Amino acid sequence: MTTNASTTPRALATEAVHAGREDLADLGVHAPPLDLSTTYPSYDSRAEAARIDEFATTGARPDGPPVYARLDNPTTARFETALARLEGTESAVAFASGMAALTATLMVRIGMGLHHVVAVRPLYGCSDHLLTAGLLGSEVTWVDPAGIADAIRPDTGLVMVESPANPTLAELDLRAIAHACGSVPLLADNTFATPVLQRPAESGARLVLHSATKYLGGHGDVMGGVVACDEDFARKLRQVRFATGGVLHPLAGYLLLRGLSTLPVRVRAASATAAELARRLSEDPRIARVHYPKLGGAMIAFEVAGDPHEVIAGVRLITPAVSLGSVDSLIQHPASISHRIVAEGDRRSSGVSDKLLRMSVGLEDVEDLWRDLDCALSARRAESAPSADSAPSPRAESPRTEDETVPA
Ligand SMILES: *Cc1c(COP(=O)(O)O)cnc(C)c1O
Repeated sequence: MTTNASTTPRALATEAVHAGREDLADLGVHAPPLDLSTTYPSYDSRAEAARIDEFATTGARPDGPPVYARLDNPTTARFETALARLEGTESAVAFASGMAALTATLMVRIGMGLHHVVAVRPLYGCSDHLLTAGLLGSEVTWVDPAGIADAIRPDTGLVMVESPANPTLAELDLRAIAHACGSVPLLADNTFATPVLQRPAESGARLVLHSATKYLGGHGDVMGGVVACDEDFARKLRQVRFATGGVLHPLAGYLLLRGLSTLPVRVRAASATAAELARRLSEDPRIARVHYPKLGGAMIAFEVAGDPHEVIAGVRLITPAVSLGSVDSLIQHPASISHRIVAEGDRRSSGVSDKLLRMSVGLEDVEDLWRDLDCALSARRAESAPSADSAPSPRAESPRTEDETVPA
């Protein structure tokens, strides 16, 4: 039997480069066209009316031009097609940010009268905040994974988890959780693992959420979010996106499609470096605890014995900034930044210690990164200040507390 190149399933690395671009050769172009139109002219307003009716009642992607850019965009649609292929779902719907994607998902369920959410901590700080504050009219029950089935009520619209979780990298058994959800959709935030390391839909998650701002874009220059799911749910998400306006800009769609093409290479290279840094940190007496997922990945988290603020102040090669998934390495203190908005007690009880640092490992050389971490872990501000002269810099004058002394 001969194999047919168009029907044989292709490997992830191949899909990453080719998905969403199948028509380019026929179009006679190599790079995807970037369509910046906000509106689409038509002399046939009867046909436009029919297309608007069709979208309003079904949420299906319009056939032909989108009428108006809030309905759909062909460049962004290429990114959606590619991401769905990588996650192994029928469809994907892109939004202006990860938070816009989560908001639309919640609104779909709340709009059906299902306002109760069951969720497992930790989640990304702002996801936690959106649920805890009930900004969209949802009500959340926080549970351990073992408590999910018992927490589900007739009005439960969603179960939400992150694995590996931001920022502790705690891992969950997604298959067992999907089972516990019964008919309630499980939303798995797959931002940290990316489809290169984990495809939650294969474990039964109906909704796979990404902050595309992170690994999918991969270069720290585009903000976006996306939900990969079945076409039924995608239609509802498109209707909410149309009505609430959290659309992804087409240039962002273009950059995200481009980012996907190097995703497998970036994630694998950075993960190898992260695994080595995690190994060295776990043998280091200045580190109290290292968190590194069994799944692997390019994120590491560690609790320092000394003052985490001094480590942030001490890095020179690693960028001291929130966010993650860029080609350059970033480090931040979750209790001060990414999870600041979560109440202190909730933060601590979910494992986000005040000593915890979260590092997103980029594509730099492992020895250069280790040297920078090593210096930052040893340095106190006066010693690590970049000025060459011996006069103490103004930053070195800040008051010291006892635990800033780094143990030998
Ligand atoms: C950053 C992040 C989000 C939010 O995404 P934005 O693009 O910043 O809105 C959601 N989940 C996780 C795990 C994140 O790291």
